[in-house]
Amino acid sequence: MKDTFKHKGLRQQLVNIIKNKGITNEKVLSAIGSIPRHLFMDSGFLDHAYQDKAFPIAADQTISQPYTVAFQTALLELKPDDKVLEIGTGSGYQTAVLCELGAKVYSIERQQELFKKTSQFLPKLGYRAKKLIFGDGYKGLPDEAPFDSIIVTAGAPFVPKPLLSQLKIGGRLVIPVGDDVQVMTLFIRNGTKEFEKHDCGEFRFVPLIEDKN
Ligand code: SAH
Repeated sequence: MKDTFKHKGLRQQLVNIIKNKGITNEKVLSAIGSIPRHLFMDSGFLDHAYQDKAFPIAADQTISQPYTVAFQTALLELKPDDKVLEIGTGSGYQTAVLCELGAKVYSIERQQELFKKTSQFLPKLGYRAKKLIFGDGYKGLPDEAPFDSIIVTAGAPFVPKPLLSQLKIGGRLVIPVGDDVQVMTLFIRNGTKEFEKHDCGEFRFVPLIEDKN
């Protein structure tokens, strides 16, 4: 688990790349600049870690593209101590970004293999989520609701109702919605039954899977 000057240099280049693609949130850029992404990937992909690309991880899943991670995180407009629910822990990279920004993170993963691997790995790097959960993200986390923000890191065929209902008033849900291509969608809860919806461009994700068991 080494983080060298070479890695730090490559990371700075990555920050510049995503800045040039339009990310302006300084806290998000600084989180990307400080998290050793190469340690979240299998050793065979180490050389690719600081390219702005998604890459395979275990269980046929992917670590999201850094630009996408930055874009989604910026949409959350996090304040320190915000309570955030993440759906799709995967490698834990997005979880680490949220922790780095001072959020209290709850994250759900439905692949046992990834859940186990990431639960052991994140604390080793010093990233302590409030709770990592093995379960189905479509249901959200009713016991811990309401949340300041909810972020979904897999492509959802529809917007799961529990996620909207688990937002605080004023809370934000960022979710890529669609089948082959997803529209990054931001919902802001303005009242018990009032939601503001914004479409924020097209992205591609692995699917948010329903009813595994
Ligand atoms: N944030 C992760 C992205 C991983 S890809 C990272 O950057 O590494 C999406 C993740 O969502 C995968 O790990 C996949 O197993 C998980 N996933 C898919 N369907 C899910 C569901 N219904 N509930 C929770 N997690 C799910």
